[in-house]
Amino acid sequence: MAMNVKGYAALAVKEPLVPHSFVRRDPREDDVVIDILFSGVCHSDIHNAFNDWGGATYPMVPGHEIIGRVAYVGKSVSKFSVGDRVGVGCMVDSCQHCSACEQGLEQYCEEGSTLTYNDIDRHDGLPTYGGYSDRIVVTEKFVVKVPETMDLRGAAPLLCAGITTWSPLRHWKVGEGSKVAVVGLGGLGHMAIKLAKALGAEVTLFTRSPGKEADARRLGVGHVVLSTDDAQMKAAANQFDLIIDTVPYVHDLNPYIPTLALSGTLVLVGYLGSLDPFLNSTPLILGRKSVAGSVIGGIAETQEMMDFCGKHGITADVEVINIQEINTAWKRMLKSDVKYRFVIDIASLK
Ligand code: NAP
Ligand code: ZN
Repeated sequence: MAMNVKGYAALAVKEPLVPHSFVRRDPREDDVVIDILFSGVCHSDIHNAFNDWGGATYPMVPGHEIIGRVAYVGKSVSKFSVGDRVGVGCMVDSCQHCSACEQGLEQYCEEGSTLTYNDIDRHDGLPTYGGYSDRIVVTEKFVVKVPETMDLRGAAPLLCAGITTWSPLRHWKVGEGSKVAVVGLGGLGHMAIKLAKALGAEVTLFTRSPGKEADARRLGVGHVVLSTDDAQMKAAANQFDLIIDTVPYVHDLNPYIPTLALSGTLVLVGYLGSLDPFLNSTPLILGRKSVAGSVIGGIAETQEMMDFCGKHGITADVEVINIQEINTAWKRMLKSDVKYRFVIDIASLK
């Protein structure tokens, strides 16, 4: 029952996405076949299609914030039934036996997790294709349940923007009374604010965009610091237990380190690559401060985050688009002009 699937793909680097038909594998015994309803648009989709990180292969069907309904389950599937509302994020498989996988941290799989797109399936050696399409086939181990009453459009971004900010909030034990700052108010940034606030933290936003202040306050931010204003940066000294930096491109981290409290951590989730300018170690050493990194989150942790969001009524603020508008949406995202996540209504593919 190999399936013909419709989607949108990049056929070459920096080329606009175009309609693209392709074939998904026959479902294996542990597979769930999902009719995709909504697919979130992450800045990583742009980085991948533009080959910012190297290793791009084409045709590339992006999309790793997938919400849909189960259409078929393989013989050994036990967690899901036809009709269930489900989500798939950035990974669709991992080795399942290394020390990271054994801890439920499949995103750090020592053999490399299998990414939802722009990767190779570890069993049949075929390319993986993402959520800008109408169907996907995924082992049940990498599928999560969507809470009963959750709005499905606003749920899609939880699968990447949500878990990527949830995981560091949990790892660094953010809770009642913690002081958290978020750098950049985009898809990840707005989820970091909502989740940190719901965990009981006092939240500050660092932004380059003065126009985002009112929205930031509506999302739960107590203080807004314009990162381009030296005086405001200096006034924010010695405050934060955790800073989550979501900026997608290289930028100077040095001005943020003095804003960390004693033993505080700045965790990078946005930019991948060498720092420029260099990081000065002196304020790190003199304040026992850390600069760290973090990638998405494990599957159990993703389910935990979905359930937390269900309980606290949290979803993303989304602009729903038709898939024909995807190239315009990417251009707007590159200008930081999105409030605060584009989500593709996959019905528009039909
Ligand atoms: P986004 O919606 O485009 O938001 C990024 C925000 O960063 C912008 O809204 C802007 O906020 C700020 N910004 C943009 N360009 C900047 C620049 N040159 N200098 C300073 N600030 C800038 O992107 P996103 O989808 O949230 O993704 C953010 C980054 O996280 C991307 O690089 C993405 O690939 C990465 N990511 C990582 C993981 C992971 O697992 N680690 C997962 C998903 C995504 P202001 O206007 O407020 O300044
Ligand atoms: Zn993403």
